[in-house]
Amino acid sequence: TAITNHLPTAELQALDAAHHMHPFTHGDGMNAKGARIITRARGVTLTDSDGNEILDAMAGLWCVNIGYGRDELAEVAARQMRELPYYNTFFQTSHVPAIALATRLAELTPGDLNHVFYAGSGSEANDTNIRMVRTYWAEKGAPERNIIIARKNGYHGSSMGSASLGGMGGMHAQGGMPIPDIHHIDQPHWYAEGGDTDPEAFGLARARQLEEKIEELGPHRIAAFIGEPVQGAGGVIIPPDSYWPEIQRICDKYGILLIADEVICGFGRTGNWFGSQTYGIRPDIMTIAKGLSSGYAPIGGSIVSDEVARVLNGCEFNHGYTYSGHPVSCAVALENLRILDEEGIVTRVADETAPYLKEKWESLAAHPMVGEARIVGLMGSLALTPDKSARAKFASDPGTVGYICRERCFANNLVMRHVGDRMIISPPLVISKAEIDTLVGRAWRSLDEAE
Ligand code: PLP
Repeated sequence: TAITNHLPTAELQALDAAHHMHPFTHGDGMNAKGARIITRARGVTLTDSDGNEILDAMAGLWCVNIGYGRDELAEVAARQMRELPYYNTFFQTSHVPAIALATRLAELTPGDLNHVFYAGSGSEANDTNIRMVRTYWAEKGAPERNIIIARKNGYHGSSMGSASLGGMGGMHAQGGMPIPDIHHIDQPHWYAEGGDTDPEAFGLARARQLEEKIEELGPHRIAAFIGEPVQGAGGVIIPPDSYWPEIQRICDKYGILLIADEVICGFGRTGNWFGSQTYGIRPDIMTIAKGLSSGYAPIGGSIVSDEVARVLNGCEFNHGYTYSGHPVSCAVALENLRILDEEGIVTRVADETAPYLKEKWESLAAHPMVGEARIVGLMGSLALTPDKSARAKFASDPGTVGYICRERCFANNLVMRHVGDRMIISPPLVISKAEIDTLVGRAWRSLDEAE
């Protein structure tokens, strides 16, 4: 029989367990419980194979910024597939979707980020960045400048290069990472690591680790620094205000390239088009993906400054992916950007949705198990704690409180992720006030049940 939505859930789960390997998932747990099968979605709401309606407070994987079920994107994709389903942009050819999207991105991004190198995902784009910044310096006659400094607990993707940039211990422990010449400094995570220090002083101290690392390794060897404006997968770690201006000052002082990984923060998440605008960062390169197409089609890219493009265009950069500038993905992304812009979605986040969500979200700090509730734009986190005054940590091994809390949320038809003992949200940007009330109500109930 055909495998469709009409099969009983248990049968779909059995086939899933037999043949489908899930990313970032322990096989035993999945086989024992079975995956929840998502069959359709509209707005911020998922429907599962048993007909339950689930509020998706993660926008998939931080990507469905315009919400689910927008026919315009389906229509653009179908039209593009009929007209030109594929053609590459290697070897002297181009096509209108790639040109139109690059032009639009040059308009939207700040400063002189005017040149897009396309990829199929955020991981691929960050792999591009590694080779790009090293090639940039080699072309400028400084091939010894090949070290990239990144941050512990940062997330930049899952490929060898991008996961090496990332600072996830669990990933580095498998498969021979990090690759050479990538170094990590500490993250600006005041709640967990700041002790008694004032948050702003802590932010400055963490930023100054960049300068210390540059001096330790030798300024003439440093190519670039990379960071997410707000660390997402690490647990929505909102930096102290002092952090980014100091990072920018240090990058400027040593003339090293600054890469802002905007894969999550880009396209409205923090209340501006880009997190760099929220935090006053002037990147030389931005990594983009996810919200670029609201997840409707896979696409990512590196958008680079006039100077980086000038140097790179002076050589043949031996790099590219079959799906770099895929016409269907580009057309879908362009339509997504039109909707974000013409429907005033980013402006509404800043003026209405984020202030409303902030008030409701911060009310969760009154829960006995919540040590801190923080949010910027529409990305927020709760630090779970057994002792608020000591900012004590729960254990974060499988089966501990974060896992239980996520399970309770899921049972209450709310998708909220956990990272160790932090609960995080990143809902579609189109979430309504009534849906925010539902989200926070279900979160509170789930915390009560997890206690
Ligand atoms: N960079 C950041 C900041 C991310 O959050 C992610 C994915 O979560 C990536 C890069 C990797 O993107 P992808 O999963 O599309 O390869």
